[in-house]
Amino acid sequence: MKLKYFYLLLLLNLAFNNLSGQFPRFKALAFYSEDVERAHVEFALDAIGFFQDLTIGGGFEFDISNNMDDLMRKDLADYSVILMLNDSPHTKEQRKALQEYMEKGGGWFGFHFAGYNDSSTDWPWFVDFLGGGVFYRNNWPPMPAKLVVNPMHAVTRALPDTFMSPTNEWYQWKPSPRENPDIEVLISLDENNYPFGLKDIIPGGDCPVVWTNKNYRMIYMNMGHGHRIFTDPTQNQLIIAGFRWVVASDKKGNVFN
Ligand code: ZN
Repeated sequence: MKLKYFYLLLLLNLAFNNLSGQFPRFKALAFYSEDVERAHVEFALDAIGFFQDLTIGGGFEFDISNNMDDLMRKDLADYSVILMLNDSPHTKEQRKALQEYMEKGGGWFGFHFAGYNDSSTDWPWFVDFLGGGVFYRNNWPPMPAKLVVNPMHAVTRALPDTFMSPTNEWYQWKPSPRENPDIEVLISLDENNYPFGLKDIIPGGDCPVVWTNKNYRMIYMNMGHGHRIFTDPTQNQLIIAGFRWVVASDKKGNVFN
């Protein structure tokens, strides 16, 4: 009888340890800046709230930082994904740290201004990482847009063929990332939006807005300007699917299995 009780306790203990060992499944670290355009700060604060809500139940740990020097943290590799909400690394050391993290299999999920680059950026690795496109032009004011979905990717397969994305400032890139064979475009601006804008106008041309570089575990989303980004359930589903995919594709193993 005593022995039975002991084994029961042992089994319960093992079961409890297994369960408690599963959570949090992974860690995410989000970088944001308060020293950028106001609408980009608004988006970042909304995004922090959105991802904090997703931690309900303790499924993952969500850390935030407004200091890019945290890219040099010794435990950076413990994070399955780094989110860049509205900024990118500036110093040589920060850039080197991000590049090394990514080349060792790290995950990157970047929004809007986090992918911005122009002739003054002077960071060829980053331009290549994003598919070779340099910021070319934008619409103004920020406006909702009809988007076309490529359903052939795990991130997009549950989405409708097209959807209306809430008010955003949309960037067009030159050359289009689609021309790069390493890039898989997941979502694009529908041509029926053209000419797009009232002050600054995107008159036409290819305009991918969500893509991945197949050489890395990364997704770039052009959404990320102002307070409306998280107001659409389809788009929220896309953001969750993109986040989950970056984490799930970790070569160390899929933490959701
Ligand atoms: Zn913007």
